[in-house]
Amino acid sequence: MMNLAPGNPLRGMSPKLREAAIGIMWRARGRYLIRRHSARRPVRPPMPLPPLPVPAGAPATAGDLRPGPAAPGAPGTFVVSLDCELYWGVRDKRTLDAYRENLVGDRLVVPRLLALFDEFGIHATWAFVGFLFYRDRESLLAGLPALRPGYADARFSPYPELAAVGETEEEDPFHYAGSLVEAVLGHDGQEVASHTFSHYYCLEPGQTVEEFRADLDAANRAAAQYGIELSSLVFPRNQTNDDYLAACRECGIRAYRRNTQSWLYREKNERGETTFRRAVRYADAFVNLSGYRVHDIGGLRGPLPVNVPASRFFYPSKRVTAPFDRLRVRRIRREMTCAAEHGLLYHLWWHPHNFGREPETNLALLREVLEHYRHLHETAGMQSRTMREVAEAVVVGR
Ligand SMILES: [Zn+2]
Repeated sequence: MMNLAPGNPLRGMSPKLREAAIGIMWRARGRYLIRRHSARRPVRPPMPLPPLPVPAGAPATAGDLRPGPAAPGAPGTFVVSLDCELYWGVRDKRTLDAYRENLVGDRLVVPRLLALFDEFGIHATWAFVGFLFYRDRESLLAGLPALRPGYADARFSPYPELAAVGETEEEDPFHYAGSLVEAVLGHDGQEVASHTFSHYYCLEPGQTVEEFRADLDAANRAAAQYGIELSSLVFPRNQTNDDYLAACRECGIRAYRRNTQSWLYREKNERGETTFRRAVRYADAFVNLSGYRVHDIGGLRGPLPVNVPASRFFYPSKRVTAPFDRLRVRRIRREMTCAAEHGLLYHLWWHPHNFGREPETNLALLREVLEHYRHLHETAGMQSRTMREVAEAVVVGR
């Protein structure tokens, strides 16, 4: 279950004791981060919204920018990213009929999320699967890359299913989303980003970096129809592959989202993932098992693309665990407070289709989180930023 180095004191422990020890270590890490940042910034008055440093004539690729030093005393940062995939993100796990209610709900919930983000001044990153930029089959088929992923397990490839998709977005609202892309573009402060072209799995055996690069190029062509330059990337299933980051940079990607670094959240492919890890992650959303998942923005400096690390998945409300949703929101709010008070980054993410079932409950829970953001913005100067804006702030300096 865990690969522990020889000499690691956890090796000799029973699994139960080991879990308890890991919980204690992560809570200690959270306290250490708080102490470290408290010492550096004992008092920080509320700060006004600083202008975002967007360089004039920004280069087409990010490779010629170098990260600059982070400014001391920076306010906390709140990032929201949404993986927009409709059926392309779940096609290898569920049937369309089984997930239809969520997918219908996805399309209904997007305008409501946009309205909430307007109301609370949230700059969100919307990472679309490239297929979804198209509105009809003819243009989608014309936009496919010649080089396609050669997964050892053929079920991961969506390409054989293209023959069965409908002709237009009106006829087949589960495989096209041109109207949703336009809806996002119609709201200030929102970023349209990439979730790869084909919901590409970078840690699955069989595929290569050349195939990945062809996939990103196809996504860039699809987005260019709207005049969009994709500069942030969310790896499908969070399968970040370090060997692919140079290809991302060459394709214009400046920011990507990586899972928070803990054995519980470390990237794995489908074979490597376990039910136990999923269950502990779910429990961690309600009670503090892994510490506060907040990040030091100074630690984001490094070669491009900039990692804008995830803090927490915003799980959808489920009937069986709904009585505990208060705990879940409280856990998020506490982490946000920690980030705001200590100049750290907090990054919440989910899929719009997660809200497709029980939208009223889920939107009400999100509203509570956003109300807390507004409080932290007003009292501690916390800023909402897209992934691209975080990368620009890290690269250019604030
Ligand atoms: Zn996805």
